Amino acid sequence: MKIGIVGLPNVGKSTIFNALTKAGAESANYPFCTIDPNIGVVTVPDPRLTVLEKMYDSRKVVPTTIEFVDIAGLVKGASKGEGLGNKFLSHIREVDAIAHVVRCFEDDNVVHVEGKIDPIDDLETINLELIFADIEILDRRIDKNKKLAKTNAQEKANVEIALRLREILEGGKMPNESNFAPDEWEFIQTLQLISTKPVLYIANVSEDDLLEDNEMVKRLKATISENYSGEHKEIIKISAKIEEEIAQFDDEEKAEFLAELGLESSGLDQVIQAGYKLLGLVTFLTAGPDECRAWTVTEGTKAPQAAGKIHSDIERGFIRAEITSYDQLIAAGSDVKAKETGITRIEGKDYIMKDGDVTFFRFNV
Ligand code: GDP
Repeated sequence: MKIGIVGLPNVGKSTIFNALTKAGAESANYPFCTIDPNIGVVTVPDPRLTVLEKMYDSRKVVPTTIEFVDIAGLVKGASKGEGLGNKFLSHIREVDAIAHVVRCFEDDNVVHVEGKIDPIDDLETINLELIFADIEILDRRIDKNKKLAKTNAQEKANVEIALRLREILEGGKMPNESNFAPDEWEFIQTLQLISTKPVLYIANVSEDDLLEDNEMVKRLKATISENYSGEHKEIIKISAKIEEEIAQFDDEEKAEFLAELGLESSGLDQVIQAGYKLLGLVTFLTAGPDECRAWTVTEGTKAPQAAGKIHSDIERGFIRAEITSYDQLIAAGSDVKAKETGITRIEGKDYIMKDGDVTFFRFNV
């Protein structure tokens, strides 16, 4: 699962990406410094693992991960080939969700491509480019299948959906799941559009504006909820500069530093967790003395396929899953107690995995 970080040049994408991955992608005060997409694998923080580690006295803890891609600068006119243009847009088509960074900090030393800092302008510039690119794809699709639609009922319906979608995009809005019936939305997903991907908006603010929203953030939030809101949209405020600094700290230093700023969790942790949620991902856990580990599956995954994440042999020889939900396991105090009190369930091959399932798979070798 991949989340693409997009936004105008110099809004803080690389800084965020660096902090996320500590990978050292170049960050410089220069619009096109991030030309090739950089991919970083990021650990998903999960406090449950720490608790399980103690309970099982595990030798090793393995958290789950998602990927972030730092996508090169989009500028006004990209859908017409400006800047890195189409190359940029094709990279975005490949990601599962978008983290859209908007600059909400003042700093005379950091050049703005349009010469002025206005988060609403920036937001609209990027979203319009995505919309233009999608309209082009839709038009091609409609053109190609117009003839077929005359004789084929399914294609006729598809063209109608595409036309409705086009109308929404023409109005400068992002299409929403709620605008369509479930089967229509399913068809839309096959079109590989950018504007229908889940989006996480990141307002990049200066350190002083972390606690209280500044005017730019307030306006940004209002605009997003008015024009771009929906089931799969979220806004998170972070300070890229601060995140870059604390990315170097160990957990204890980080907690101390955040407490000094009056914050509970780092912006990046929020970004990772929100991204995870946005992608419709579910974590199940395995725990024992060797290791306790978090595994990622998509919503709706059944037990045997979840087992397949661990090893294909376990999926092939799947007999049953012994599952205790995390909260109940903690309440019971140990897995022995959970078994004694009947909290641990035996689930078969049709069981759909839930977030926080502490799982033990039985299988034939
Ligand atoms: P990108 O082009 O969007 O990837 O932007 P970068 O991450 O390379 O950042 C461009 C410049 O802005 C760099 O000099 C960063 O140090 C600076 N920058 C990024 N975030 C912040 C921030 O929150 N506050 C300030 N003052 N500068 C920032």
